[in-house]
Amino acid sequence: MKSPRGGDSEAQSFEIDTSKPHPARMYDYFLGGKDNYEVDQEAAEKFIQAAPEVRVGVRANRGFMHRAVRHVVAEGGIRQILDIGTGLPTEPNVHQIARAIAPETRIAYVDNDPIVSAHSLALIDDEADTSVVLADLRDPRGVLDHPEVRKIIDFDQPVALMLVAILHFVTEAEDPNAVVAALRDALPTGSYLILSHATGDVHEDGRKDAAAVYKTATASMNPRTRAQVLDFFGDFTLVDPGLVLVPDWRPDEPVRPGTPPIGIYGGVARKD
Ligand code: SAH
Repeated sequence: MKSPRGGDSEAQSFEIDTSKPHPARMYDYFLGGKDNYEVDQEAAEKFIQAAPEVRVGVRANRGFMHRAVRHVVAEGGIRQILDIGTGLPTEPNVHQIARAIAPETRIAYVDNDPIVSAHSLALIDDEADTSVVLADLRDPRGVLDHPEVRKIIDFDQPVALMLVAILHFVTEAEDPNAVVAALRDALPTGSYLILSHATGDVHEDGRKDAAAVYKTATASMNPRTRAQVLDFFGDFTLVDPGLVLVPDWRPDEPVRPGTPPIGIYGGVARKD
């Protein structure tokens, strides 16, 4: 078996902790995947009780991600992608979407959950163009300077940085604005930021009980307002239609009537 790069030791890297819910595995459960454990299923079911739209929501988030990747590759000319907070493999994965348009696209997948590295590595057959890295968003220098990231990404050429459904796992005390600013600064002109983020804005109860489920998980859930999410884009220029709820970002087909409100903002912005 291939080993994830960046772990302190192989044994430690592959250790699967089933004593606490993990965000990656809960997300996989919401999506109907199989890479989750009882502890994740129980927490996810509690979340569904408090936010019944979550399954539609995670699918809408994936749909946004697909459309955004297609946009930056097909229209933005992007051929390198740094995807931080990759999640467990879910078809189609980012490399499949991008390479369907431009087969030469290079991708570095980064996640801090060893289960993600282990499962993702199994899917990668072209190690020259793809890497799977165990690293933490909250240490942006560690991500940017990681040899397996540097092997794939040339920071002198435009990059699409993906922070899709990850930043709400970073608390205010961990200074997500500084984290994202450090990443934005490392990108050359012509680069893109693809970002989505949970919000309490669209539900009267702010989905506080749902967010609270993550108190027992390995990372807390920190929904943010539209203004706070907008700040993450810094001085990048948002492409149309700007920062909107994910179903409304360039939908392929009209949003179906009766679709519940989804508390996830999504946007794509370019560094000019
Ligand atoms: N981007 C994917 C998966 C989102 S789930 C999608 O939108 O479909 C969120 C992912 O972020 C999980 O895999 C979780 O392990 C990862 N994650 C959470 N906090 C992280 C951190 N501080 N550093 C790196 N990855 C993190």
